[in-house]
Amino acid sequence: MSTVSVHALSTGHITIPERFFVVPADPVAKRTVPSLSFLVQHRDEKSGKLTRVVFDLGMRRDLALYPAELTSHLANRGPVSTQPDAVASLAAGGLTVDDIDYVIFSHVHYDHVGYPKDFTNDKTRFIVGNGALDLLSGKAKYDLGKHMIFEPDLLPPERTLELPPPGSADSHFTWQPLSTFPDAIDFFKDGSLYIVNAPGHLPGHINLLCKISSQPTRFVCLAGDACHDGRLLTGECDIATWTDETGRYCCMHVDIPQSKATLARLYAASKDGIKIEAEDQPASMEVIFAHNYEWEETAKKEGKFWPGRL
Ligand SMILES: [Zn+2]
Repeated sequence: MSTVSVHALSTGHITIPERFFVVPADPVAKRTVPSLSFLVQHRDEKSGKLTRVVFDLGMRRDLALYPAELTSHLANRGPVSTQPDAVASLAAGGLTVDDIDYVIFSHVHYDHVGYPKDFTNDKTRFIVGNGALDLLSGKAKYDLGKHMIFEPDLLPPERTLELPPPGSADSHFTWQPLSTFPDAIDFFKDGSLYIVNAPGHLPGHINLLCKISSQPTRFVCLAGDACHDGRLLTGECDIATWTDETGRYCCMHVDIPQSKATLARLYAASKDGIKIEAEDQPASMEVIFAHNYEWEETAKKEGKFWPGRL
């Protein structure tokens, strides 16, 4: 039974007012949160081939490398930290960008895309969810806040794969139902790593479902920005909206009903487990979202950051 090893990568922090992510909220409270990334390693049982995937790249190591509009937006997100970045965190366990086969993005907001230009090796492929490339090019636009700035030249076109629309297939990837998830891609075709469609936050938002143990079967779901606070997963709080100083309606999520449906599926799988064909018992699943500061604190103590593992 194939599994993958998952290793947290420290890739910066931002500070967000609580009223931007939950209601009810303390009107003045702010929270400094990580923007977590992960290294996922897979060894093919037949060929022995080792493949390394990085899920998200977090914050860019130097804020001056962001477009000017984002740099000014980030002035309101302090304290911000950008060190170590993805490259430095990989180096902490002896890896360089040349060791990475795939960089998969949960979505293309600035606090998750890092600095892809560091990944210069011809073999490294970038994978984004369906709809992400239209955001980057500017073809699709959402006026929902100052964080909605995208860069047309973020990714090298010749090394970038956009997933097919959920429910369909292309020459590389096939979406299929998995347990309570309507759309999942069996990435290595051995049940060890699934890309799960997780719509609502931003077009192309995806999660990684990683089988980290086979006896008993245990999964972790790297949930990106499916939510920004654990109380949204449990239903204790609701998704926030706010009006900015120009009178503009703002929200962290592009589609609130879809985000809620995604959260409900994640919560159900975290409570009831994941039913896998040929297994009697549902497998357990832990949800880890990118900005979970409580998870970060515990994981640091428990040695889950690379070169440690989950
Ligand atoms: Zn985010």
